[in-house]
Amino acid sequence: MTEEKSLGSILVVGGGISGLTTAIEAAETGYDVYLIEKTPSMGGRVAQLNQYFPKLCPPTCGLEINYQRIRKNQKVKYLTLSEVESISGQPGDYEVTVKVNPRYVNENCTNCNACTEVCPVERPNDFNFGMDTTKAVYLPHQMAFPMRYVIDGKACKGADCGKCVEACKYNAIDLNMQPETITLKVGSVVYATGWDPYNPAKMDNLGYGRVSNVITNMMMERYAAKNGPTGGQIVKPSNGEAPQSIAFIQCAGSRDENHLSYCSYICCMASFKQATYIREQYPDAKIYVYYIDLRAPGRYEKFLNKVESDENIEFIKGKVARIEEDPETGQVIVEAEDIFGGGKIHQKVDLAVLATGMQPTTAESKLPGDLKYDENGLILEDESTVGVYAAGCAKKPADVTTSVKDATGSALKAIQTMVRR
Ligand SMILES: Cc1cc2nc3c(=O)[nH]c(=O)nc-3n(C[C@H](O)[C@H](O)[C@H](O)COP(=O)(O)OP(=O)(O)OC[C@H]3O[C@@H](n4cnc5c(N)ncnc54)[C@H](O)[C@@H]3O)c2cc1C
Ligand code: SF4
Ligand code: SF4
Repeated sequence: MTEEKSLGSILVVGGGISGLTTAIEAAETGYDVYLIEKTPSMGGRVAQLNQYFPKLCPPTCGLEINYQRIRKNQKVKYLTLSEVESISGQPGDYEVTVKVNPRYVNENCTNCNACTEVCPVERPNDFNFGMDTTKAVYLPHQMAFPMRYVIDGKACKGADCGKCVEACKYNAIDLNMQPETITLKVGSVVYATGWDPYNPAKMDNLGYGRVSNVITNMMMERYAAKNGPTGGQIVKPSNGEAPQSIAFIQCAGSRDENHLSYCSYICCMASFKQATYIREQYPDAKIYVYYIDLRAPGRYEKFLNKVESDENIEFIKGKVARIEEDPETGQVIVEAEDIFGGGKIHQKVDLAVLATGMQPTTAESKLPGDLKYDENGLILEDESTVGVYAAGCAKKPADVTTSVKDATGSALKAIQTMVRR
């Protein structure tokens, strides 16, 4: 029998939908792939969505198909809690050092939850944007891949406590695990490091953190999700009651030279989608959408038409100047210019949702390797780019379909570098 000749290895950084796609497409073409993710599980931001357009399916659908393909493909080696430290060499022949942080839970874990039951420490749950807590030892979320518990080393009390070690019947917890640095030899690298929600606290006029019933669009996704902090109920954070009126504030941070100078592409669509979440739970709730321009690219126009036909949804063209809290009722007061109606609006609502934009994770800290960035930290590619590429929202804000297409193209570019060696 002849041994299968290795075609070479590709490194993909970031386990969101873009990184998963690049990794699988390259592996299914016969290349060995290392896929590294900095958090404890794969899926990226899509895993945090309640449903995703255009079909409004739960993210489990799309992500699980990709996880299956990875499980079946020996050529993809994946690592979580890992980040690239350095890249040296040249296209076709890179040496990459990767720091692998300790998980403190090994592959013996059966997800029995006994450790969580005895752990005395609560920590903010970053998956739910701090709207609830987990124990220091926890399962990242119900559809985590890999489906394995993890210990937050910063929150854990360590060996002085050790209750989880005693409770675990499977010898799965090792509080002495240490960070490791590994070296990989690869021919090309694809960064699919994605996006973070733009920090709403940077727009003080919009009231986030100052007005209790102002949330962001990603918080709305978590509220609406069955595995979210309220079991899927959309409520007012101030008292857990049902909102009867909701305002969406579009372009919160986007298309603004003081914040993100570009359009975040999908936040109009995200608000239209979230209007359908509200309508399902509250058939009579009044919804107001404050916008500068409504953007429903390509076939999404139909979705916009459907939302526009709801007579309890009002679209108001006007930039929101300020959001305050009514001291008597606790309601949110949205102050805006009414461009078509004329004059100033002071709208009182129970809940305001900031349609915050998408900022590349590279906005503030840059990645190792020969990369170019624009003034917003988005990774730039041109005809001179060779060897180290980017995919998905690391390059521009996009929906899942566009990210997946871009990621497939990035797999091809990574392969071309290997072939040219
Ligand atoms: C409110 C809202 C709702 C949305 N709803 C929809 C929708 O309904 N339908 C739709 O099509 N799109 C939707 N989107 C867009 C969708 O979230 C993106 O298209 C998608 O997340 C892009 O995937 P990505 O892999 O490029 O980035 P991400 O999802 O951000 O994944 C990047 C991954 O890389 C990891 N990472 C980052 N830096 C590093 C590093 N240095 N080392 C290792 N790993 C790293 C991250 O932890 C993450 O897992 C929505 C966006 C918003 C803001
Ligand atoms: S670490 Fe041990 S106790 Fe915790 S879920 Fe896994 S098997 Fe159960
Ligand atoms: S050792 Fe850490 S994770 Fe384990 S029970 Fe104690 S605090 Fe929780």
